[in-house]
Amino acid sequence: MPTTRAQPRLGLGIPEAPDNGFALLIDGQHRAAQGDAAFAVHDPFLEQDWGRVALASPADVDAAVQAAHRAFADGRWSGLLAGERARILLRLADLIERDADLLTRQQICENGKLISEMAPGTAALAGDCRFFAGLAETHGGMSVPPARPGFTTFMLKEPVGVVAAITPWNTPLGLLGWKLFPALAAGNTVVIKPSDVTPTSTLMLAQLCLEAGVPAGVVNVVTGDGATGAALVEHPLVAKIAFTGSTATGQAIASRAALRSARVTLELGGKSPQLVFADADIDRAVSGVMAGIFAATGQSCMAGSRVLVQDAVFDRFCDQLAMRGSRMIAGDPLDPHTQLGPLASRAQLDKVLGYFAIAQRERLACLAGGHRLDRHGYFVAPTVYRDVPPTSRIAREEIFGPVAAVTRFRTEEEAVALANDTLFGLAAGIWTQDAMRAHRLLHLVRAGTVWVNNYRIIGHTLPFGGYGQSGTGREMGAQALDAYTETKSVWIDTGNDLHFATGGRDV
Ligand code: NAD
Repeated sequence: MPTTRAQPRLGLGIPEAPDNGFALLIDGQHRAAQGDAAFAVHDPFLEQDWGRVALASPADVDAAVQAAHRAFADGRWSGLLAGERARILLRLADLIERDADLLTRQQICENGKLISEMAPGTAALAGDCRFFAGLAETHGGMSVPPARPGFTTFMLKEPVGVVAAITPWNTPLGLLGWKLFPALAAGNTVVIKPSDVTPTSTLMLAQLCLEAGVPAGVVNVVTGDGATGAALVEHPLVAKIAFTGSTATGQAIASRAALRSARVTLELGGKSPQLVFADADIDRAVSGVMAGIFAATGQSCMAGSRVLVQDAVFDRFCDQLAMRGSRMIAGDPLDPHTQLGPLASRAQLDKVLGYFAIAQRERLACLAGGHRLDRHGYFVAPTVYRDVPPTSRIAREEIFGPVAAVTRFRTEEEAVALANDTLFGLAAGIWTQDAMRAHRLLHLVRAGTVWVNNYRIIGHTLPFGGYGQSGTGREMGAQALDAYTETKSVWIDTGNDLHFATGGRDV
């Protein structure tokens, strides 16, 4: 075991809970959980626990939601001018940039993602924050022509109230920002429930919110496991749930939320196809497919895990992918030269190893990988299975590991049918140098994002989300603020009595 690696910084001024761990953030105060309950945070590269974090009970969740509700009801945030909220969010973006290195390293010590991927992600987080700060003053509503004489009519956009933001471990702060920034820009208050794998980086970002001038009670954090998240979902004062995570959890949340008509946006799993045509630049396509499935050690909702390759280039493509995958340098995620990091947790390692066993039982041809690496840390080798039947579990289920299922196709029609043969619909890649084919196919492939001759590129100006079981609603893009607002229609009588004569219209 290496012992020289810097331990994560326990700090950014967050006071310690009684058990020397990270505390909850409720109403601007750092508090231990009820009964001092706590759980361990773990480094997946060192395979070591390195900190303790408060485990919020339903009573702690209630305290956080009550605080957020008070902060919403008294208007300390929603009552500010939108421009003032924008000013505070811009300050938050500056603080994210000031502490970018700390925020990046803290996340890496939690989930093992490479610094070469996490650092640009933290930089993008500041950009996302500025984007929503800029939108805060543009989203107040609009005047519309009246449909009846004698009225002035307009729409108002109002915050929904208390927002629960429930996040996964693979990109903890990026996926939190997609919820937190539009929610705050629109005037809501927030209770965050980060993954139990990655709780401390979230506490740091919440601390920066306070430093930026977000009033106490507006941003609260309850750390804990699925039970903590479930208590938040059930709370009657939570008006909206913004969730990113697995499809199974998202569906459970949506069904509970439906019982009390709480608003929900869901960003869920995927099994995204990459379509590689014989006329593609094959070197570039191999690089793009590698970025799609081996980057982030495959732990990405948009992982391009189903690789569909046209007959004429199938063997060449498979060989290159396997060869380049096998040469990836596994190592310390904090080392900028490392190309393959560990899986984020022991549980995720066990899940991926379970799929290797399934592939063996299904007698799939394995061109590379298919095993754990013989070293410390939760590493598995970049894995390529070829001629995977579309019915295989390796081709149908989200593995969340560096596992490419390569399937052969002959015609364009067959490629589209294979691409759409999934319950998911988060993303897709099309590799071809035929511009007309690209334009044809991007309409036919059913996915929330389609990349042509690139993969895994995202940015705050375009919405992100999925078709089918990949989710409900979209995050990012200017319309993301709609998901954090209610629309109120206003009719003002302008003193013309015509409408009394013509009668009202009811629904
Ligand atoms: P998960 O569903 O296990 O957990 C996500 C969050 O939900 C965690 O904070 C967890 O504690 C909480 N949770 C668990 N059970 C809950 C319940 N019953 N009620 C309320 N909250 C509960 O997912 P994960 O393993 O942390 O993340 C991996 C998954 O996230 C993958 O399926 C991946 O595809 C998905 N993901 C999707 C996107 C996207 O944008 N579509 C992005 C990243 C990750």
